[in-house]
Amino acid sequence: MSVSNARIIESLERAGVRPSGARVHVLKYLESNRNHPTADTLFRGLKDVLPTLSRASVYNTVTALESAGLIRRLNIDGGEARYDAHMPDHGHFRCEACGAVRDFDTDLGALDLSALDGYTVGKRDLFVFGKCPDCQKK
Ligand SMILES: [Zn+2]
Ligand SMILES: [Zn+2]
Repeated sequence: MSVSNARIIESLERAGVRPSGARVHVLKYLESNRNHPTADTLFRGLKDVLPTLSRASVYNTVTALESAGLIRRLNIDGGEARYDAHMPDHGHFRCEACGAVRDFDTDLGALDLSALDGYTVGKRDLFVFGKCPDCQKK
């Protein structure tokens, strides 16, 4: 399924973000590639379509998109930050052999937090580690 520029521009405008070329391309890349790229992967994936793009503008762009609530930043195990435009609640599985990160649907709202009596809970994240099917075959 391809993601249209018109729809990306509409999401940016609805979130109050000016739809610059870098923002449109970064958000489109993240919506089309659910592989949780790092800023460097985004830069390498977009520099051909957007030759004026710099690493600094990728960082500025992901920061602006994150503040607008259009993408989330994942910090898994102290590794390099990865970016994700899939906003509904979901968990992440990371393969410890190849490093691939994939989404899995889960109801984070159903987590039992009763042991946190008296605490205010904000963001919830769920990370699961193991080996992907391909790496198990090696
Ligand atoms: Zn793997
Ligand atoms: Zn994800």
